Amino acid sequence: MITNEDLLQKLLSNVVSLTESKREDILRAYYFAEEHHKGQKRLSGEEYIIHPLSVAIILTEFHADYEMIIAALLHDIVEDTAVSLDEIKSAFSDNIALLVDGVTKITKLKSASKREKKAETIRKMLFAMTKDLRIIIIKFADKLHNMRTLQFMSKEKRKRISKEVIDIYAPLAGKVGMNLVKDQLEDLAFKWLHSDAYSIINSYFNRIEKDRVRTLALVKRKLTDQLQKNNIYFRIKSRAKHFYSIYKKMKKYNKSIEEIFDLYGIRIITDSIANCYQIFGVVHILWQPLPGRFKDYIAKPKDNGYKSLHTCVIIEKRKAVEIQIRTEEMEEINEYGIAAHWYYKKNYQPDLKELKWLKQLKEVHNEGLGSIEYYKTLRDDILKDLIYIFTPKGDIIEMPKGSTPLDFAYRIHSEIGHRCRGAKANGKIIPLYKPLKNGMVVDIITGKDSNPKESWLSFIKTSHARKKIKSWFASHKQQDTDIKQENKKQESKHVNKEQPKENLPKIISSKDMQIEVNGEKNLLYSFAKCCKPHPPDPIVGFISRGRGLIIHKKDCHNIKSIKDFEKRKIQANWVLRNWRNIYTFRFMATEDSSPFDEIGRVIYKYSGIFIESKIFGNHTKDGRKDGFFSVKFPKKTNISLLLKEIRKIPTILNIEKEY
Ligand code: MN
Repeated sequence: MITNEDLLQKLLSNVVSLTESKREDILRAYYFAEEHHKGQKRLSGEEYIIHPLSVAIILTEFHADYEMIIAALLHDIVEDTAVSLDEIKSAFSDNIALLVDGVTKITKLKSASKREKKAETIRKMLFAMTKDLRIIIIKFADKLHNMRTLQFMSKEKRKRISKEVIDIYAPLAGKVGMNLVKDQLEDLAFKWLHSDAYSIINSYFNRIEKDRVRTLALVKRKLTDQLQKNNIYFRIKSRAKHFYSIYKKMKKYNKSIEEIFDLYGIRIITDSIANCYQIFGVVHILWQPLPGRFKDYIAKPKDNGYKSLHTCVIIEKRKAVEIQIRTEEMEEINEYGIAAHWYYKKNYQPDLKELKWLKQLKEVHNEGLGSIEYYKTLRDDILKDLIYIFTPKGDIIEMPKGSTPLDFAYRIHSEIGHRCRGAKANGKIIPLYKPLKNGMVVDIITGKDSNPKESWLSFIKTSHARKKIKSWFASHKQQDTDIKQENKKQESKHVNKEQPKENLPKIISSKDMQIEVNGEKNLLYSFAKCCKPHPPDPIVGFISRGRGLIIHKKDCHNIKSIKDFEKRKIQANWVLRNWRNIYTFRFMATEDSSPFDEIGRVIYKYSGIFIESKIFGNHTKDGRKDGFFSVKFPKKTNISLLLKEIRKIPTILNIEKEY
C-alpha cells in the first residue's frame, strides 16, 4: 500500500526544479494540512491527507506553479476543518487564500436542495475562475483524484457525480484546452454512467490487444525506416484509448464496436511545422489514406487552440490507423492547454478575445439567473462545442452543437423565433427539431400570425431560446386569464343567458357524415335550426310529430323546454358516409409519450372518429419515437387544421401527412 511518506517523496521529487524556499513552503503547507486533517479518514479508509497530497502531485504533472501546489495541499481545509480562510491568508498568502476559497464548496446555503447547492458551488467557483484561471486547474486535479477513487461512494452518488463531470467539468477542461484531463475525466465518468457499454468496449479492447500491439509495431517500424532515411527528427507515441469518444461514435453512427474503424492510433511528434507536412507526405506514400479523413488543424486550429494534422490510413485489409502529426510545442499545448501557457509565460492572463466562452461566462454571471438555470445555461450554451451557421445573407452565427433551426431563429431575434413556422437548410425544408450541422445556410420561414408552441420546449437545445419561449407563454397566459376573468364578469351580469360553449374548429363537413340511429343509417332526418349540430358535437335524436327525426346537440338548451322530450328522444351518432379516403400520417414524439393515445384523443375530439384502422407501430431511436398510422376520413376533411391541433400536444414533436 502507498503511504503518505511515499507520496510526499514523490511530490518533493516532482518539484526539485523549484527554489529551496518554495520547496520549504510546500513542505510547510503539507505539515499544516496533515495536522489539521489528522484523524479524518476518506471513504476508502485511508488517511484524509492522501487526497490533498495526490491532488498536489497531479498538479505537478500539469506543470502547475508553486502557489497552486500549496493551494492544492490546503484545498479542503476550510471546508472540512476549523481553520478559517483568514488563517490561511496569514500563514501563507492572499493569493493562496484566494485559490483555496475558489475551490471551497458552499455548504451554508439553507433551504436549498442538493442540486441547487451543487449549482451554486459551481457558480461560485466559475465566478472566482474568471478572476484567476488557476482555480479551475486545481479543481480539475481535485476531480481527477476523486473520480479515480469513486468506487467507495454509493451507486447513486457515483452516478450523480459522473453526470456532473460529463456536463460541466470535462467540457470545461476541453474549453481551456486541457484535453488530457478532459479525456481522463470522461472515461472515468463513462465507466460509472454507462457501465454496460464501458465493459463491452473494454472487453473488446482486451480481445484485440495482441493484434493492436502487433499492428502498431509494424506501423512504427515502417515509419521509422522511412523517416530516418529522410533525416527527420521525430518520436512516436502510442495513443491512449479514449473509450468515451468510441462510445459517442457508436451512438452517433448507430454502429457496433466491430464497425468502428479507427480504434488504432499513433501520434508522431516532430520539431517543426515544415516537418509535420513532410511526415504527412511520407505517411501517405507508405499507406493509402482513407478519403475524407484528412484534417489540417495546423492551418485552421480548433476553437480551443488545438493544432495537429490528422489522417487515417489503411494498413492491411480493412484495418485503419489514425495518425496524428504535430510539433512538441503543439503536443504540450494540446495536452495541457491553458496550464501549459501558464508554464511558458509567467503571470499569464488569457485574452478575452481569444476565449469567447470566458467572456460569455462573465456575462452570464451578471444576468442573475437562478442556480438551476445557471447550471443549464452553462451546460447547454457555454460549454457545448460550437458550430457555425450561415444566414442567407452570409453572416456567421455561432451556435452550440446540437442547436435546432428554432434555436437559430431565437438567436437571430426573439420575434423571429416566436413567429417561426419552418426552416430551410441549404435550400431544403427541414423539421424544426432537427439538429443543425456545421456550415449550413439556414433560412427561417416566419408567419405573420404564427405563435410559439408549447411542444417546442421538448426539443429546443439552448437555454436562451427556452427562456424566450417560456416568457412568451407566461405573458400570454396572463393575458388569457385576464380575458377569462373579463368574460366571467360579463357572464355574471347575464346569468340567465346561454353559457358560452367551447367552440371546436370544424375539421369535417356535416355533408360527409351521416346519422346512425340504433344502427340504422338510412333514416330521413333533419338538423335542428336552434343548435345546428356539427360533427363531432355530441348529438341526440328527437322524433317529432310531422317533421320526422330531428337531430339536436345533446346540450341544446331548447330541448329542455320541449314537452315529452325525454319520452321521444332516441340515441344518435355521427358516422362517415361510404366514400372516404385513407390518410397516413408520420409522426415524431418524445420518448416518454404514448403517441397513439394522445393523437387518438385529439382526432376523436375534433372528428368523432377513432383511429380504427392500421397502426403500423412506432420505434424509439435517439430518445425519440418515430411512427405512423392511417385513418379513414371523408375526402374534404380539413387535415391541416387537424394537424395544427395535434401539434399542440406537448409530447408530439412533429406530425406530417404522408400521402
Ligand atoms: Mn478535494
